[in-house]
Amino acid sequence: MSHPVLVLGGGPAGLSAAHALASAGQKVLLVDKADRLGGAPILSGYARLVPSGEWAKDAIGGMVDRAAQHPLVEVKAGCTVTQFSGTPGDFVAVLSSGERRPVAAAILCTGFTHFDSVNKPEWGFGTYPDVVTTTQVEQMMSSGKGVRCPSDGRVPERVAILLCVGSRDRQIGREWCSKICCTVSANIAMEIREELPKCSVYIYYMDIRTFGLYEGAYYWESQEKHRVKYIKARIAEVTSNGQRLIVKGEDTLVKRPITIPFDMVVHAIGMDPNVDNLMIASTFGVKLEKYGHVQKAPSYSAMGGTSRPGVFVAGAATGPETIDDSIAQGQSAAMAAIASLKAPVAVAAE
Ligand SMILES: Cc1cc2nc3c(=O)[nH]c(=O)nc-3n(C[C@H](O)[C@H](O)[C@H](O)COP(=O)(O)OP(=O)(O)OC[C@H]3O[C@@H](n4cnc5c(N)ncnc54)[C@H](O)[C@@H]3O)c2cc1C
Ligand code: SF4
Repeated sequence: MSHPVLVLGGGPAGLSAAHALASAGQKVLLVDKADRLGGAPILSGYARLVPSGEWAKDAIGGMVDRAAQHPLVEVKAGCTVTQFSGTPGDFVAVLSSGERRPVAAAILCTGFTHFDSVNKPEWGFGTYPDVVTTTQVEQMMSSGKGVRCPSDGRVPERVAILLCVGSRDRQIGREWCSKICCTVSANIAMEIREELPKCSVYIYYMDIRTFGLYEGAYYWESQEKHRVKYIKARIAEVTSNGQRLIVKGEDTLVKRPITIPFDMVVHAIGMDPNVDNLMIASTFGVKLEKYGHVQKAPSYSAMGGTSRPGVFVAGAATGPETIDDSIAQGQSAAMAAIASLKAPVAVAAE
């Protein structure tokens, strides 16, 4: 077939879609608005990934090399698509660089936006420098500098990780569970305990959702091997007594108020819909679901489809996803795109 398939977004989903398409002999035009490929794990400097334990720069960096070096993959970084028209097998994508490119199909792999903790001001982010996010802790670990209090560089003796920040919170319009943050937080807690054995780590939770096999490997392992403490609580506020941060709330198991001092408080931030989604929906003529993620075709027989035939979707563009699932969905959307070009059928969401 003559036209390439457009893959928009070069994170785990887009890299896997591009590689799968190219491996099947299909030309690919891989476009990413960032200057480098790799998506959130590379752009946000994640450390060791769940569940493989590999460093993000090695695991996802390897995926970048594999896709970008394939002779059938053309990469356009620092660029997006501003117009998209035509019919399956014969679309035209206009790039922000001004280029008009014929493409046979498109796969949207545009991922998510990290929740901005300033939208949860009562939990101290933006007020106290030692209130940080999981992304910041990942960066401390991946930079090799280690976990330190940003205010003065001291080694923390007590760390609290607050789960569900920007997820499962109707008050701020975010009802969804971000799926991976319980497990990522348990992993971070274990890594802090390994790096700083004298540091106590507490995880404040509503419910624990270390789904599937992660329950044993992260939830129980973190308690039984690493002595991470879990507190089922409703948090009221994070303040400071001038020396330490104070987490105030209610222990919802014993129904008593609790006030505990910490050196560092970590927000386990959730996955918001990509801030570009309204623009992406309008450019590609696809529907968004009620929270603003790209709407998936509802049927198992149309996995990877969107509301527009010839336009497919994979990964966290559709809602919170793990890296494993984003990679699998990228491959699956690649297969769906190839199949649609061989025998075009209207695969569409209602
Ligand atoms: C703190 C934190 C830690 C995490 N750790 C793990 C972990 O250890 N294991 C795990 O399984 N999951 C983890 N996750 C989840 C993981 O980040 C996602 O599963 C993964 O990044 C989704 O991949 P993706 O390719 O769908 O999207 P993304 O990684 O978001 O990539 C999307 C790409 O699309 C590009 N893009 C966006 N909009 C446009 C546009 N308009 N035009 C062009 N390009 C665009 C972006 O630049 C980006 O490169 C973590 C999440 C958080 C918040
Ligand atoms: S995975 Fe855990 S921390 Fe993340 S939103 Fe769901 S319950 Fe909350």
